[in-house]
Amino acid sequence: MTGLSTDPDPVPGRNRPGKARAVLPDGGKSHLPTNPGPSGSGSLGCLTDLSRSIQSLPMRLGEFELHSLSDGFFGLDGGAMFGVVPKPVWERTNPADSRNRIRLAARPLLIVTDSERILVDTGIGDRWDDKARDIYHIEKIDTIESSLARVGFRPEDITKVVLTHLHFDHAGATTKLDDTGKPVPRFPNARHYVQQREWNAALTPNRRSRASYRPDDFLPVQEAGLLELIDGDWKLDLTARDTIRNAEHLGHVPSLELVLTGGHTPGHQIVLLKENSEFRNQKSEFKTAVFWGDLIPTSSHIATPYIMGYDLSPLETMEQKEKLVQQAIAGKWLSFFEHDPEFACGVIEEENGKPFLRPLAV
Ligand SMILES: [Zn+2]
Repeated sequence: MTGLSTDPDPVPGRNRPGKARAVLPDGGKSHLPTNPGPSGSGSLGCLTDLSRSIQSLPMRLGEFELHSLSDGFFGLDGGAMFGVVPKPVWERTNPADSRNRIRLAARPLLIVTDSERILVDTGIGDRWDDKARDIYHIEKIDTIESSLARVGFRPEDITKVVLTHLHFDHAGATTKLDDTGKPVPRFPNARHYVQQREWNAALTPNRRSRASYRPDDFLPVQEAGLLELIDGDWKLDLTARDTIRNAEHLGHVPSLELVLTGGHTPGHQIVLLKENSEFRNQKSEFKTAVFWGDLIPTSSHIATPYIMGYDLSPLETMEQKEKLVQQAIAGKWLSFFEHDPEFACGVIEEENGKPFLRPLAV
């Protein structure tokens, strides 16, 4: 029925083929390196440190400084997260708890340039009652605000917010409650970029998608006049900076591109960052970075058929993922994973025709 159970490779997308993640009694704390902190000298890695937070060291891509932030952890049903993949296969890398939930991270990406602080997705937020906290096993060991503070920023410093889509685990921290209990934008100085078709889908959800959208996550942004609806692939204007004007003159413009993928939701988009080689920092090992959103939520979802049961158009997801993963392998893209409980980022490589993640270590 699944067509996948005969695959001899446990989870082809995870690490090297055949290497499953160890299940440790302490939840994985002991085998991870200590993160020396975001002020560390170089750019170097994005393994996580669960003993303190899941925040990683910054990565450098040309003029972009990239921080995988943390809004804590939560849990979703493992079966729903892996669609048609059988549990004996997915549980080797993503062990389920007694209620069949697997642990997931909420990792917004912060992109810093001389003139911009751009946040990609905002996390799961804090507007949850006890029942929901129990169902989704929400662990707020971090908040988007504490995570931003660790790298020296406040919510008011954010200039742009890009939302891959409007599901509650991606847009949940876009608003907060004010003193009167009213939801208001958490990033009051930011323009918020959402695909028009995602906005439409969130405002008029069907019976299947309704549970994933909470209007208080996004309507206050529109009411405050902070919403930018876009239609299709889009390139954000980052040309305010002097050096970038110079770069334009030279024909090398660094860019932040929003790529409409659909699949997971009608308006799901991913973010591509392309550096300007004229201004490449010597430590910058990469030319392109990608934030996969829910196209590839964890590194266990890299292999083409590993698609969430939540996806509204799984065949569209499959086509987009196959195409983009090939580009990521060929171009050595730096990949950021929003929900991976262990690896914030890495590089997708291929061995014997199977893609796998090479995590970047501190
Ligand atoms: Zn989603």
